[in-house]
Amino acid sequence: MRFDVITLFPELFAPFLSSGINRRAFESGAVELKLWQLRDYADGTYRRVDDRPFGGGPGMVMLAEPLEKCLLAIREDRAAQSPNQPKVPTVLFSPIGQTLNHAGVESWSQSDGAILICGRYEGLDQRFIDAHVDVQISLGDFVLSGGEIAAIALLDAVARLQPGVLNDEGSHQMDSFNPALDGLLDCGHYTRPEAWHDERVPPILMSGHHADIAKWRRQQSLALTQTHRPDLIESARALGKLSAKDEHFLRHLTSGGTSLA
Ligand code: SAM
Repeated sequence: MRFDVITLFPELFAPFLSSGINRRAFESGAVELKLWQLRDYADGTYRRVDDRPFGGGPGMVMLAEPLEKCLLAIREDRAAQSPNQPKVPTVLFSPIGQTLNHAGVESWSQSDGAILICGRYEGLDQRFIDAHVDVQISLGDFVLSGGEIAAIALLDAVARLQPGVLNDEGSHQMDSFNPALDGLLDCGHYTRPEAWHDERVPPILMSGHHADIAKWRRQQSLALTQTHRPDLIESARALGKLSAKDEHFLRHLTSGGTSLA
């Protein structure tokens, strides 16, 4: 899988690529990442990549021409490396796009990759977007200074799903939103010491009874999800993922109970 990133700030990616589990993903080649400095595709002494908006108004707009030149250079480079690979989509990070979620990350993690464009300033000349962008992805209903953080978020989430990247193979399956958790939120976790500021670890976790621990964790997941993301409970229910025991626990919760362990 190969991702190409068009950015004016390739240096922002360096700490991310050289730390933690991301480093393992990118050094092993599980995910190939190539950074493209947009300015290298701009003309003139000043290598200008932006200009004032027609019609007036604040800020600057990214020029279509260097973006297109850079995109074509990437397409050529990819074709030279893998002549038979189908064309990967061109993705623009933008508040306009669909908000990134687990299903989206899973689908990108099983793809051949993409060409990711990080906008800056007021954004890109609309004509370039209309001509070349296949997908727009948002990180949420807020405005970032640039698309780099959104690109890093996507790359991080995709990288950790690659086989061999996490220390504990398959541990991501027990993370929030995953099918193995029926799309619910993960439960709380505890580690040493057993007592911290007079708060003890829930005794069931010290019992060694794996079935009871699994049941307790499921109930914690249900309770947390019911409190913080009731929409995910509804989705799990609609998909038939909640057992009679789950439903019994949820009824008990809404009637004011806290634990059925
Ligand atoms: N004028 C644009 C607007 O109001 O929608 C915002 C431009 S923003 C300052 C510059 C760039 O940051 C955008 O082109 C986009 O690439 C990126 N960006 C900003 N917010 C984002 C978000 N919520 N998700 C993904 N990318 C975002």
